Amino acid sequence: MRRIPRFLPAIVLGICLLLPCSTALSASRAAGIPGGIVTSRRIVALSFDDGPSAYTPQILPVLHAYRVHATFFEIGAEVAQNPGLTRAVVAAGDEVGNHSYTHPDLAYLPDAAIRSQLEETQATIRAAAGVTPRWIRPPYGAYDSRVAGIASSLGLRPVLWSVDPRDWSLPGTSAIVQRVLYQVRPGSIILLHDGGGNRSETVSALPIILHDLQTEGYQIVTVSRLFGLAPVPACDQARADAWFGAAGVRPIHGHAIYQAWLRRYCAGVNYGPATSGEYALGRDIAQNFARTAHRVEWNRKTDEVGVRIIWSWAAKVFSARGIQPIQHAPITHAWFLQFYKGNNWGPALGAPRSRDGVTSQRFRYGSATERAGKITWARG
Ligand code: ZN
Repeated sequence: MRRIPRFLPAIVLGICLLLPCSTALSASRAAGIPGGIVTSRRIVALSFDDGPSAYTPQILPVLHAYRVHATFFEIGAEVAQNPGLTRAVVAAGDEVGNHSYTHPDLAYLPDAAIRSQLEETQATIRAAAGVTPRWIRPPYGAYDSRVAGIASSLGLRPVLWSVDPRDWSLPGTSAIVQRVLYQVRPGSIILLHDGGGNRSETVSALPIILHDLQTEGYQIVTVSRLFGLAPVPACDQARADAWFGAAGVRPIHGHAIYQAWLRRYCAGVNYGPATSGEYALGRDIAQNFARTAHRVEWNRKTDEVGVRIIWSWAAKVFSARGIQPIQHAPITHAWFLQFYKGNNWGPALGAPRSRDGVTSQRFRYGSATERAGKITWARG
């Protein structure tokens, strides 16, 4: 399925040669996307961007020789060209992440294009290697709340990096090695590139980096493994608190619900401000959040925290003008799905109308048309 809009450049390989990949890093950091974890343990994640390419098969045996695994953030269009390379990465026990389909700056794209960039890459990697990525690394580290919302609706967690030797600029093998060893700290994520241009220096630097890190006592792991050890990465707490309390509800730092909310916020998933205080819900303590009508529930006995969608909330929005949702009607169903993905088409302005096998319904911010089970949305 090709759903990439035509205005996107078909080929953007090597773009990292022209633009520093870390341009937008500081801006994204401010939004709370992790580039590592806080730990005193000597453990780091190793990651490769912009592949797969002909250099990928040169990297896999080096990782194997040092008995380490890495995360490869792959470009969907490259996977489509070389599905066997993605299969080889997975077969070697390494992790594959999503790096968009054609490497655009996602923050400049309309929502539908962001979604297709991410979705198409997920589908291409799944078709190539039978795995579904859990992590998205946005090209250039460029990110905003729309990208975060769309990524989270696809089950993707955003992640950046904290060690960037700029290997793509071909500074020489020894410069790559020295920069990594100088910048690395416990909990870092190291960024290297296995695609997008000539990566011979990266390939030469890799065994030296791995040898020296291991000599210094570092354990080298995938991104998933790193975050599995410390699920709450460091992120901007003042900013997080401002989000949490934007609707006037004060965050209570010691409480489990706030902690659960913060964990997701720090991973780039923002449920929006709290719209209620904590309240008792059966055996649980619950609290409501604005974004896509989520309710976080904490079971005090088991200490488990769950997130549920409040269906009645969506139904209230749908029927605000007095038009009730018709259960099992395709347009109603599609409207609800959109709502939970953060796309609110507003209340229904009229009942669905059918003519010649085509059903349509008007909403505050657009209209939906159903033809043979297929729904199309139009704004306005
Ligand atoms: Zn990249």
